[in-house]
Amino acid sequence: MPRDLFIYNTLTREKEKFQPLVPGHVGLYVCGPTVYGDPHLGHARPGVVYDLFVRLLKDLGYKVRYVRNITDVGHLENDSDSGEDKINRKARLEELEPMEVVQYYTIRYHQAMAALNTLPPSIEPRASGHITEQIAMIQQILDAGMAYEINGSVYFDVKKYNLEHCYGILSRRVLEDLQTNTRDLEGQEDKRFPFDFALWKKAAPEHIMHWPSPWSEGFPGWHLECSVMSSKYLGQVFDIHGGGMDLMFPHHECELAQNTVTRGKNSVRYWMHNNLITINGQKMGKSLGNFITLEELFSGKHPLLTQPFHPMTVRFFILQAHYRGPLDFSDDALAAAGKGLKRLLLGQSVLNKIPVSESATISETLQQIEDNIYQALCDDLNTPVALASLFDLVTWIHTTADANKTIALQDRKLIERIYDRVVNGILGLKQESEGDQLPLIRGLIDMILEFRKQARQSKNWKESDRIRDQLSGLGVRIKDTKTGTDWEI
Ligand code: ZN
Repeated sequence: MPRDLFIYNTLTREKEKFQPLVPGHVGLYVCGPTVYGDPHLGHARPGVVYDLFVRLLKDLGYKVRYVRNITDVGHLENDSDSGEDKINRKARLEELEPMEVVQYYTIRYHQAMAALNTLPPSIEPRASGHITEQIAMIQQILDAGMAYEINGSVYFDVKKYNLEHCYGILSRRVLEDLQTNTRDLEGQEDKRFPFDFALWKKAAPEHIMHWPSPWSEGFPGWHLECSVMSSKYLGQVFDIHGGGMDLMFPHHECELAQNTVTRGKNSVRYWMHNNLITINGQKMGKSLGNFITLEELFSGKHPLLTQPFHPMTVRFFILQAHYRGPLDFSDDALAAAGKGLKRLLLGQSVLNKIPVSESATISETLQQIEDNIYQALCDDLNTPVALASLFDLVTWIHTTADANKTIALQDRKLIERIYDRVVNGILGLKQESEGDQLPLIRGLIDMILEFRKQARQSKNWKESDRIRDQLSGLGVRIKDTKTGTDWEI
């Protein structure tokens, strides 16, 4: 039986015990990127947060179907129903076919997510690959009387929907208030009501991406793809829908309305939203000069940065904050995160140097630490508390080593399990510099030291010293002790 997991449901504004629809299985849908520019700091947080969540679910024994879409059509510049399609615009400016833009930035996004050690989703559907299904859903909404066609475009009838249901249930906005706070927007003249949103837009002559439909040659509205692809891959009702807080309104609110009309019920059982990253206290924006791409962050090539930051430092920095809390990025904060990560990972090397004793007594403190870590993670992914417990563990390791004490085999195994399952597994943290090569390097050094041991046993001191000096020249310092040979890079 997995541990109880509690997650904060944005819909109810309460922390709820997670109960999947099908025992042992979890269906998770997360809104992915619109691929028209380099992945930036804003992409890193949801990437890491939902990766952490998937890793935790898997560790708890769930089978997870993780769907994260790629938006490659229909996302207009102002996130509403006017302006140019973001990908269309980029393709026009760069004189590229829109799918070249999509392909290029999808690869860049995947590379950045891999650098952050996030696991790929189980399914990564694209909006442009689901036009037929989107047209079918529009027809369903029209048939239900909740949409209207005008000049080749189709809009969702928010006012009518609001008579039977509640538009604003997720974002806790009240339609009447929205109305009074809105000025008339340009390009909305076709709509009956400013908050009606596009399900289908008739393409202007200069619009490159368009498909035939019963209403016009055009393209689907942005909110539609997630309703279509979540139901296609996860079913009419599914467990969890995630995304950034900036997507809650209008994107998720509209998605929820579409789902309600076409499925007759609210199809998402738990809505999760991660908070956003600010930079030196400000919202990130190109006009503010504080827009940082992940490549700039990893290479240090940005006026706000004094040094390059390893992706693992960025990952650790994100995990230091609770996913629903604010996270302010600064050069200093990242540098501090780098030190914290180093200290956490160093604990494992120090552990390896503590001699193992025959003792069969198991430390209650260590068991408590392991329990505290899981309890924090299962309490709505409370990573700051889990990390605090991990640093208690690091302190325990150092205290034991400094006092020249021994460690019981069971305790050592328990700590190794925490590093393996929690630090590397759930938190997805690994050594920075050596990266994926670390196990190989460790194995090779141990092998070379075995040759040196044989040389020493046959009293071939010249050979033994030669190996030691050469390793030292490569930055591997070795120290002979009574029990064997220790080494560090
Ligand atoms: Zn979405």
